[in-house]
Amino acid sequence: MNIPLRQYWNLLAKYLAAQRSRVVLLAVLLLIGITLDIINPQILRYFIDSATTGGASDSLLRAALLFIGVALVQRAMAISATYVGEGVSWNATNGLRADLALHCLRLDMSFHNLHTPGELIERIDGDVTALSNYFSQFVIRVLGNLVLLLGVLVVLYFQDWRIGVGMTAFAGIALLILVRIRWIAVPHWRRVRHISAEFYGFLGESLAGTEDIRSSGATDYMLYRFYELMRRWLPLTVKASVIGGSVMWSSILITFAVGMAVAFALGAWLYHLGAITIGTVYILFFYTEMIRQPIEQILRQLEDLSRASASIGRIRDILAIESKLPVAAQPIDLPRGPLAVDFQNVSFSYAEAEPVLQSVTFHLPAGKVLGVLGRTGSGKTTLARLLLRLYDPQTGEIRLGNPDRSVSIRSAGENDLRQRVGMVTQDVQLFHAGVRDNITFFDERISDETIQQKINQLGLRTRIESMSNGLDTELASGGGGLSAGEAQLLACARLFLRDPGLVILDEASSRLDPATEQLIEQAITQLLTQRTGIVIAHRLKTVQRADSILILDAGRIVEYGDRDVLMRDPASRFYQLLQTGLEEVLA
Ligand code: ATP
Ligand code: MG
Repeated sequence: MNIPLRQYWNLLAKYLAAQRSRVVLLAVLLLIGITLDIINPQILRYFIDSATTGGASDSLLRAALLFIGVALVQRAMAISATYVGEGVSWNATNGLRADLALHCLRLDMSFHNLHTPGELIERIDGDVTALSNYFSQFVIRVLGNLVLLLGVLVVLYFQDWRIGVGMTAFAGIALLILVRIRWIAVPHWRRVRHISAEFYGFLGESLAGTEDIRSSGATDYMLYRFYELMRRWLPLTVKASVIGGSVMWSSILITFAVGMAVAFALGAWLYHLGAITIGTVYILFFYTEMIRQPIEQILRQLEDLSRASASIGRIRDILAIESKLPVAAQPIDLPRGPLAVDFQNVSFSYAEAEPVLQSVTFHLPAGKVLGVLGRTGSGKTTLARLLLRLYDPQTGEIRLGNPDRSVSIRSAGENDLRQRVGMVTQDVQLFHAGVRDNITFFDERISDETIQQKINQLGLRTRIESMSNGLDTELASGGGGLSAGEAQLLACARLFLRDPGLVILDEASSRLDPATEQLIEQAITQLLTQRTGIVIAHRLKTVQRADSILILDAGRIVEYGDRDVLMRDPASRFYQLLQTGLEEVLA
């Protein structure tokens, strides 16, 4: 196995540096524990030797008490070490989780289109969790156990040099054999982890799609796939356990049985020669047993490292991905007030696909409303995404501003842009939280009065107060329990609190009941006062408020002009759309 130690060390150093004192404390605790491990058998030897040679019961009692005392301290050290170690590893891994999550959030949408949410959870949490032991214990345990092993061997040399030589040879051979055997099970476990990832991917997908799966009667098929995965999973796990468990552990058992035999033969021989006492024979056994512990621990750590190294590789891969949206070194502030919109020859395609927008050029003056129309898939939502800079167009430029000053959105700060350009999306993302949090986006600085005032202005007050708990009503996960129209109403309130200079409204294409439609109309009117608006319309009502109309077809502008003019021109597409009925054509 090839381990790039330097990279590993850098990772360790970065996340442990902040908690240096705790790491030192952990090291001290572990080392004290190890020292006591070595000392305690010596008390036993004294006890046995005193007992066999008829020592005073007083000193025997003292030795017994001392033995118990040391054992208790040892336990206390082990518990404290676990406590401190958990703290160290959680702090370090949480730091890494936060860095990874932030990094992923900063990456552009093309990254997120390629990676499913489940995969990202697995990479941000799963891989990091696999490192927790590595962060808190690896170095200390491996070093500590090597020290323990050396300590035991040195003590054995002091008992008798022949014992020392015998046991050193034994420990060396055992370590060598076991390290080799240790890797036998690794590929098997890798297969098991692979299928378990597949299983959880499947499970996540099925749970998210429960509604559709049930309504389309696919339950039996999903269960079939569930069982199929289970059927593949079980034999792999059994195989890995059998190989990992039985082969591993039986080889450890055999190796140490041989060790015991060597210790026994040595002990018997030396005792016979009169070189050692019966107490020393005893601790010879005791230490042989003790050699096993550090060897096992070191093996366990190495196995853990082999697992961790896969994760470290994946983490480094993610961190190496750069956003395709370069940030401006010195962001320029967008002007206050309503924003004018300028598209200059903008062409765009999603990753290597057909162009979705082609040579789009239009100018929307500040404070005016543009109605965007077009068949499904014509690129309307994409146009809105470009304005929010979720993607950069391949060619052309988008500028925002007012008559005095206009700024390319590439040179605007990201936060500024998202603050000044607000969008109500086609299917609004609601969170499993109260209505209040869904409106404020969990910003606790916004008082209830402000919220009340704003939703009152939007005309949503009665609707929200009629919910079971008003602002405190909990929404089901994924915004369940609200219709698409109602979700858009909440999103309007969300925007209204932020007071953007440009509002983009991507209307839900689903039909709304008249009451909700009425409310939305009212809310939009409020939202668009004193602001520039782009409404992607699926309904006649919404188009009526537009000053100008833009019709997209397969990513090209096929018509653009004043609504009043187009409406009266029988040759225009808009005129024809109005005749046939917008809803029939666009919905
Ligand atoms: P609708 O009226 O149904 O909302 P739309 O006009 O908003 O349609 P867009 O969502 O802009 O259409 O999509 C335009 C084209 O871009 C479609 O062909 C679609 O398949 C493609 N597209 C949309 N989003 C992505 C994406 N994230 N990755 C790749 N292609 C996409
Ligand atoms: Mg759309």
